[in-house]
Amino acid sequence: MLTKRPRGTNDFLPDDTIKWQWLEEKIRDLCSDFGYGEIRTPTFEHTELFIRGVGETTDIVEKEMYTFLDKGERSITLRPEGTASVVRAFLEHKIYSKAQPTKMYYVGPMYRYDRPQAGRYRQFHQFGVEAFGSIDPAIDAEVITLAMELLNRLGLDQLALHINSVGCPECRPIHKQELKKYLEDSLDKLCDTCRQRYEKNPLRIFDCKSKECQELIKDAPSVTSCLCEECRQHFDQVCNILNSLGVSYEVDEGLVRGLDYYTRTTFEILVEGIGAQSAICGGGRYDKLVEQCGGPDIPGIGFAIGLERLLMTLDIHGIKPDIPKSKKFFMAYVSDETKIEATKLVNELRQNRLAADMDYMGRSLKAQLKYADKLDATYTLILGEEELQKGKVTLRDMLKGEQHEVMLENLIDYCKKLIK
Ligand code: AMP
Repeated sequence: MLTKRPRGTNDFLPDDTIKWQWLEEKIRDLCSDFGYGEIRTPTFEHTELFIRGVGETTDIVEKEMYTFLDKGERSITLRPEGTASVVRAFLEHKIYSKAQPTKMYYVGPMYRYDRPQAGRYRQFHQFGVEAFGSIDPAIDAEVITLAMELLNRLGLDQLALHINSVGCPECRPIHKQELKKYLEDSLDKLCDTCRQRYEKNPLRIFDCKSKECQELIKDAPSVTSCLCEECRQHFDQVCNILNSLGVSYEVDEGLVRGLDYYTRTTFEILVEGIGAQSAICGGGRYDKLVEQCGGPDIPGIGFAIGLERLLMTLDIHGIKPDIPKSKKFFMAYVSDETKIEATKLVNELRQNRLAADMDYMGRSLKAQLKYADKLDATYTLILGEEELQKGKVTLRDMLKGEQHEVMLENLIDYCKKLIK
């Protein structure tokens, strides 16, 4: 127990975190190019927020939340997704009273009690954006383009963008009626979950993975076929803007997304090569969510990308992070006296923003040089008794195998020039 991490979680060791840092930097650059500012919200919230914000009939709320009573007997939930928290903060800080739209992004861990498998974890990370305050189809296109741009910048090209419109509170009830009528005589063929969905939220039957339900639903009236005039126009405009931006997509009338809060535009980006978990990004418009969470009638749109799945995809596609190799110094010494001087020099190098390290294991000089190789040092500085007396140090270029002496008093300037 003590040496085993909880099921569905990951440790990211330094070789991994280097990739995470690289990815996060790409995300930050991208968001800055698109005018989105970072928001950091707590990793836990009052349970009520997710029940209200994600939806009572969703898998997340029904089955997957990490919920507990804290010591003050308050029901707390580890956030299963980011949107509800961002909406809460948008309201709490009255951000809606500032110039709109509000464009924000987040990167952080999410928690879902699901059956772990490759690409599905109990703690995973999402990058998401939310844009509040505008119903303009152009912002739908902007949000979709932002997601596609990230994947393109990372070098992924075999992407399938699926989009759809799930209508609004005007047209959804009409669709609901038609769908229920269509399924009325086949209720016994639906799985148990979908029979419940039939009563509470039949639209979600489109999300069901069961073959029988899929077979049944495939010829059902789609929500897209019931769109009201305004929703139809909105969707057409989103498509037109994407066309003019040269973004390829496929209209997928079965794409309703698992969360209750979506209205109008929904979209997913799928990638090849990661098997069953092929959706890497999911998002959509949520024009009634802010109001549903107790705020004014303000529309919004956003998406979330799973970062574990994204890194996995990059790996499978053979895309390596283009992380520039930083140059490092290793300071080797031969005795207690030279060690004191070496410690001072390492400290001085570091104070001058030069990456430097030394041995703390009592290694012999030969072993120190071997260790420097292991650390991938670009240069090794060797401080022997004689060198110390002469006020010099030997600098060895580890790649070329060449070495020469440098005066200690010039060392910092010399090293600075070397790494330029
Ligand atoms: P969702 O919030 O369910 O729309 O998911 C958005 C994205 O987050 C998905 O496309 C996945 O890339 C990722 N994701 C969702 N659930 C998990 C999970 N349990 N483990 C890893 N990634 C996930």
